[in-house]
Amino acid sequence: MQKIEMKTPLVEMDGDEMTRIIWKLIKDELITPYVNLKSEYYDLGLEHRDSTNDRVTVDSANATKKYGVAVKCATITPNAQRMTEYTLKEMWKSPNGTIRAILDGTVFRAPIIVKGVEPLVPGWTKPITIARHAYGDMYRNVEAIVPKGSKAELVFTDKDGNVSKQLVHDFNDTNGIIQGVHNTDKSIGSFARSCFNFALDTRQDLWFATKDTISKTYDHRFKDIYAEIYENEYKSRFEKAGIEYFYTLIDDAAARVVRNSGGYIWACKNYDGDVMSDLVASAFGSLGMMTSVLVSPDGAYEYEAAHGTVTQHYYKHQRGEETSTNSVATIFAWTGALKKRGQLDSIGELSEFAEKLEKATIDTIESGVMTGDLYAISSLENKHKVNTQGFIGEIAKRL
Ligand code: NAP
Ligand code: MG
Repeated sequence: MQKIEMKTPLVEMDGDEMTRIIWKLIKDELITPYVNLKSEYYDLGLEHRDSTNDRVTVDSANATKKYGVAVKCATITPNAQRMTEYTLKEMWKSPNGTIRAILDGTVFRAPIIVKGVEPLVPGWTKPITIARHAYGDMYRNVEAIVPKGSKAELVFTDKDGNVSKQLVHDFNDTNGIIQGVHNTDKSIGSFARSCFNFALDTRQDLWFATKDTISKTYDHRFKDIYAEIYENEYKSRFEKAGIEYFYTLIDDAAARVVRNSGGYIWACKNYDGDVMSDLVASAFGSLGMMTSVLVSPDGAYEYEAAHGTVTQHYYKHQRGEETSTNSVATIFAWTGALKKRGQLDSIGELSEFAEKLEKATIDTIESGVMTGDLYAISSLENKHKVNTQGFIGEIAKRL
């Protein structure tokens, strides 16, 4: 068979622990036999991040800006214990945080649905994609304990020195608490554009919700920026694509999500996204089946699994014990990136190959062959559990 050729390189970000092992298996057994893989390789494994003083993470993000498509393996975010485990020079920041800061993107998380692993909400027959605004609000707050007898005020000074002041609360008869939060028009606008672009890209409706009836200035600003960008830049494209932008109140959205069958993107403010992405992920089944893509407002895409490096499985692997780690989300990170590369470079074969690999993966599980995490929850009767390598081998056979 002649291998599929690529034009523009894919940015490849290797990672750590069990997912690093899976990474190599996927490349060797599922991709390079069929695709003449053109990738610009960045080793984001913790040792190499340490030896480059984390320069490699920044370089990989800049390469993503340049080429437009990246695929990332899960990576360790160091903590005190990792400092000793890897004798690190510094407690390097989360690579995802660094990459997100450079690409200024929004993260979209979607479950992969297979027969036998039914969501806890029976009506959810299609995936629900959560888009979380990853800037501001409570996550960049200032807060304080206020002693009785104090007066709290909201003060800001404009560039000419004019001071605006509003009373927050008079704590005349009790102690209390206060919190100051902010967001920026620029960040909200980037968030909105990423969401509108992703909706067009995946041909799904976009939902957005805030509490603008109560927060008449702050949350209302989110609603207005979305509405303005939609009207001016996206409305006709949405109509042409036959998809809808739908705005409602956050509590109404929560109630509708449970009664709806899925198949849309739910854009959430930072806190709502934090809560709802974990709720939706756990209701859909397994972390090993959740994909994630970072979309920058100027159209760069970085695909990854939503889970981490599966450390406990890696320690077992190091002790020479058998593991049964689910590689589906990492496979779908690769297929997402290959599909996008194929689309951008007009290489139909490449996108088709990625779809075949996705189908082979789902067919494998639906035929009853699965890793331990799915084996524990699958309702299939003829199911049997395979190990990490065995699962990828079974997919390769079908592919
Ligand atoms: P994790 O790697 O997601 O694993 C947590 C647990 O979830 C595992 O122990 C396993 O449960 C289950 N699990 C997750 N993915 C699985 C898969 N593919 N197949 C089967 N089971 C799976 O989270 P963590 O243990 O909290 O974090 C480990 C490391 O990953 C940390 O160093 C953290 O910094 C990093 N991390 C990286 C990213 C990223 O790069 N995007 C995200 C999160 C965490 P059982 O042990 O019960 O089987
Ligand atoms: Mg959370």
